[in-house]
Amino acid sequence: MQIESINPANLERNGAVETHDEEEVIECFVKARKAQQEWKRIQVLERASIIARVNESLVDQIDELSLLVCREVGKPPLEAFISEIYGAIDSTFHYYNSVSEVLGEEREIPLGFYSSLDKRSFVYRKPAGVVAVIGPFNFPFVIPFQQIVQSLIAGNGVVFKPSSEAVLVGEAIYNILHTIEELPEDLMQVVFGSGSKLGRVMVDEANRVIFTGSTNTGKAIMRRAANTLTPVALELGGKSAMVVLPDANMDRAVRAAAWGCFINSGQVCASVKRLFLHESIKDDFTSRLVEFTNKLVQGYPEEPGTDIGAMVNQEQMQLVLDAIERAREQGAKVLSGGRRNPDLEGYFIEPTLLGECTNSMDCVQQEIFGPVLVILSFSSEAEAIKMVNDNPYGLTSSIWTENIDRGKQFAREIDTGTMMVNECVYSFALAMTPWGGPKASGIGRTHGEYGFLEVTEPFHLNVDRYKEMDPWWMPYDKDFREIMDNFKHIAKSLVVKQ
Ligand code: NDP
Repeated sequence: MQIESINPANLERNGAVETHDEEEVIECFVKARKAQQEWKRIQVLERASIIARVNESLVDQIDELSLLVCREVGKPPLEAFISEIYGAIDSTFHYYNSVSEVLGEEREIPLGFYSSLDKRSFVYRKPAGVVAVIGPFNFPFVIPFQQIVQSLIAGNGVVFKPSSEAVLVGEAIYNILHTIEELPEDLMQVVFGSGSKLGRVMVDEANRVIFTGSTNTGKAIMRRAANTLTPVALELGGKSAMVVLPDANMDRAVRAAAWGCFINSGQVCASVKRLFLHESIKDDFTSRLVEFTNKLVQGYPEEPGTDIGAMVNQEQMQLVLDAIERAREQGAKVLSGGRRNPDLEGYFIEPTLLGECTNSMDCVQQEIFGPVLVILSFSSEAEAIKMVNDNPYGLTSSIWTENIDRGKQFAREIDTGTMMVNECVYSFALAMTPWGGPKASGIGRTHGEYGFLEVTEPFHLNVDRYKEMDPWWMPYDKDFREIMDNFKHIAKSLVVKQ
């Protein structure tokens, strides 16, 4: 069987890949596990320098890869370059430079009283084994690429399943990593097929699962992983808020709200999906945003000058159109867009602004994975904090004010993994910082130090040079009882003096 890749902007066929069945997926895990036995013995910095060679090929293929992403998922090629290919190159460079600090040396842990008995402890991180990386459609290159690179550098094998909407990009990731001559042939595998069919076996066979996708799929993966107690990192949905205070730089905030919502046709976990405006600036800000939005160019992503491309497929487009319709029924007012673009052949939804929203509406509470921004107002910061937190998701959000201290204080009150002051969305590009969030946005973190910790196990090595018998060993005789009396004195010395 094959999965066909269709360009969502002009509905042309890009190509196809052969699918794998469950037995073939198991075979991929077996091969990756075997290759990993040698790979894990290579020093971490040596592994990192082997993997970092991929940047030479990435730089050579920037334009081809950007175009492939564009044709498979519908975003403009330059957007694909800056948000995906550049991000992959930048993060590999950073992981190469930072890995020895996180995974390099074993660390000695002071043992207090036990040191007096000639005992010492060391901790270092061991690779988890074989990591299952399951990718989404919206950033089909950079997201799985970074997770694969971190897993490999950390000494793991990888079996990667790309989204069925982005199989050619998945294949390109496999091919580009295999341009590295020193990469063991079987260490990194790619499999194609429906997630609902292959997902179970991927979870069953893996030592770690790094999943990026919807909250419902994430829950199904976590339930399945409970059978084998396999740790999972789940990067799930979002409903990021942008809160604008009256003293914000309005020009910058208006542009940010538009870019933050409409990049990649709004198919971004971290995109600005809820706009909270202070009541004193609401009318002015909204009319400037409507004016700017109406000037944006939606079109075929390959045409120069296109700001907003296509949705990934008909199903995603319909989900978003249904959500807009429901918002209308619940009282929201369409200020801009609100429909499928009638002038374009593929799956295009016009950039949409919804006014007169209240916090309990579905369009404010639920993730709409498309170019739809809901606008609300608030009268006090306390009210804004309450509304922002009253939402199932917790990935990112932002606060906009010229008073940085005030912004930082506000930010600390928000239940998200990342809060930005006067910025939005771009923090995914910071490969050195933790990525992920609580509540329905997931569990665990990718990127940076936290990403390396996610794909490794802490290993504790205890070494003993004590020549005598340990005082707590049998027999529990008279001597033992005296020794325990001494321990009672020691215990008293451990009461922390306040
Ligand atoms: P899906 O959950 O539909 O799919 C994601 C991946 O999971 C695909 O590879 C899919 O395969 C696979 N899959 C589907 N069912 C299962 C299963 N039962 N077991 C294992 N794997 C399965 O998400 P989307 O691709 O639609 O991505 C959009 C969602 O991802 C949004 O909610 C978005 O917010 C979130 N996201 C989160 C990010 C983050 O960092 N927090 C970043 C990017 C997106 P197949 O394609 O074959 O169905």
